[in-house]
Amino acid sequence: WSWLQKMTETSGILQKLSKGPVVGDGSVLLTLEKRGYCRAGAWTPEAVIKYPEAVRQLLREFVRAGADAIQAPCFNFTEGSWKTNKQNERKQQQYSVEEINKAACIMAKEVASEGGALVYASIGPVSSFVRGENEKETKQSFEKLLKLYLKHKVDYFVAEYFAHIEELEICVEVLKRGNLPVACTMRIGPTGDLNGVSVEECAIRMAKTGADIIGINCLYDPVVALKTMQRIKSAVDKAGLSPYLMCQPLGWMCPEVEHHKMGHLALHEFPFALDSRSVNRFEFGQFARKAFELGVKYIGGCCGTEPHHIRAIAQELQPERGIDPPVNDMCPQLGFFADASLSNYKKKYCRSEADYWKKLVPGTGRMFGPPLSYGFQKPTVWVKS
Ligand SMILES: [Zn+2]
Repeated sequence: WSWLQKMTETSGILQKLSKGPVVGDGSVLLTLEKRGYCRAGAWTPEAVIKYPEAVRQLLREFVRAGADAIQAPCFNFTEGSWKTNKQNERKQQQYSVEEINKAACIMAKEVASEGGALVYASIGPVSSFVRGENEKETKQSFEKLLKLYLKHKVDYFVAEYFAHIEELEICVEVLKRGNLPVACTMRIGPTGDLNGVSVEECAIRMAKTGADIIGINCLYDPVVALKTMQRIKSAVDKAGLSPYLMCQPLGWMCPEVEHHKMGHLALHEFPFALDSRSVNRFEFGQFARKAFELGVKYIGGCCGTEPHHIRAIAQELQPERGIDPPVNDMCPQLGFFADASLSNYKKKYCRSEADYWKKLVPGTGRMFGPPLSYGFQKPTVWVKS
């Protein structure tokens, strides 16, 4: 239980960040879709009511992997969120936002308490902003969510996946009224937000909202995300601002969309055939190390990141955090090849060395598969890790 004691020593997210790196969680909706509990396209989290055991198990895997915090899994669910998606339009919403959010918050708190983790509310873009309605309506949508989450006593807020800095500013302004720590991240890459606002301007404007933590999530792979984070860091440093930095990239490699505004959503393989692009655990561990060296304190994953990616962050940053993730009982780093009964295998293939895995260039297993999707601008620099 030493890990549990250590994890609960510091209470809130800001206290944790002041002591060292924080491990975030990973993909929920896209992972639930793969497992058969979420409908692609709509990406709405009714599974928290229909298949609660499936969601609970996934959250538990993130906590076991070493996540300091898990989300109340109700991302992308606001009134009308199904109606705006023509392809997946349904006759009626089966559950209300209130029902989904309540179930999600209760479930997340139960699971988090098993491992001393925190629970955050994830608030994404709302349909009223996308539909171009006025600021007042957008604000009201966020106010409704704020009220719900305060009622269910989450530990902090993460405003995430914003494509427009204006909408993020409105969201953070509302969330700050909740008197809880606020993180905000945009789904931007090197080309900036959907209106062409640069990475640097987005960074400064995010920091000036007064959010405690700022950064990026989704749409780009860990290599591209690090490039964007470097620019965010330089911009806030130059402006004399010092929010905590956060990065939660994809669990897939997709260098060819570095300069595409829609990121991996534009790939021919999205969303059903991205598997061959999976980042392996060592690549994700190296991403965590580089992010930390860059000054990023809150490191997690977005779509495509499974529990073993989160475990890779926790294990890579073990020296800084001084906490072994609970999963170490079954999966210590390189434990398989350190096992005495496998020593012949170990000798023959030298696979007990961290270096072997870090330098490995994994094959795709497809004789005639191209490394990248066709039709995209070629990535300017392509270096492993
Ligand atoms: Zn994502």
